[in-house]
Amino acid sequence: MTDMSDRVALVTGASSGIGRATARAFAAKGARVVLAARRKHELDKLVTEIEGQGGKATAIKTDVSAAQDVEKMVAHAIEVFGRLDYAVNNAGIEGQWAGITDLTEDEWDRVLDINLKGAFLCMKHEARAMLDGGHGGAIVNIGSVNSFLGFQTGSAYVASKHGLIGLTTSVSAELAPQGIRVNLVCPGFIDTPMHRRAREIVGDELYDEGLIPNVHLQRAGRPEEIAQSIIFLCSDEASYITGTTLTPDGGYTLTI
Ligand code: NAP
Repeated sequence: MTDMSDRVALVTGASSGIGRATARAFAAKGARVVLAARRKHELDKLVTEIEGQGGKATAIKTDVSAAQDVEKMVAHAIEVFGRLDYAVNNAGIEGQWAGITDLTEDEWDRVLDINLKGAFLCMKHEARAMLDGGHGGAIVNIGSVNSFLGFQTGSAYVASKHGLIGLTTSVSAELAPQGIRVNLVCPGFIDTPMHRRAREIVGDELYDEGLIPNVHLQRAGRPEEIAQSIIFLCSDEASYITGTTLTPDGGYTLTI
């Protein structure tokens, strides 16, 4: 597998769950890692952990829905490590679960601003840095099985994740001639704080007896397993893959 020791990877939403596991996986491959999220104290703990294992990492407090923050995040990556090779736009929220007649405009905006506009803002600045670097790069956005499937009371989340398909395919076509690949990873049920909150709402019984049996592998995934899909799409082994989706969901979306 690709030696990433001369590469720089940026991960948004690195303070928890899939983002944290992805940052650790990049560091394990030797990459220097830029960690972004709103909870800086969580990022600082991860920097200490990575550096304690001989890696290199830096943290920057970022709200991906704020254009200025995102611009500063990418500038920080270049300032500290001098280049940007990989960017993982993973930050996301599930929002409040509400039927369409109860969903407020504010909540719709909050979910779309973080999940969809956030990915747009991140790619805008990440792509600029990669183009300026002149050495290509790889961007991975994080969708969901809800990039393909709806669920009742989840319309804002589902719309944001569907939107990421169009955003990813369009930007991949724009950047391919410059050697920048852009792909979408669409996880199924993955055991993270977000997932645990959803499980609480659904209830243990419906979750264990109604949902998990539809996963062919009969279990939720681990964040580390999603990190490996992301690392693969960034690696040189995926050099001919762009504009596509990879769905590590244990077979869930194959089930009718
Ligand atoms: P998580 O544990 O709740 O982590 C979400 C991450 O996003 C946190 O690090 C959070 O950090 C960050 N974040 C949220 N809003 C942000 C903002 N405005 N600016 C910057 N960072 C922000 O959830 P997760 O399960 O790892 O989810 C990661 C991604 O995977 C999300 O896009 C999610 O939709 C997707 N996904 C998850 C599952 C699953 O089953 N877990 C399935 C499909 C897709 P701060 O709070 O510190 O800002």
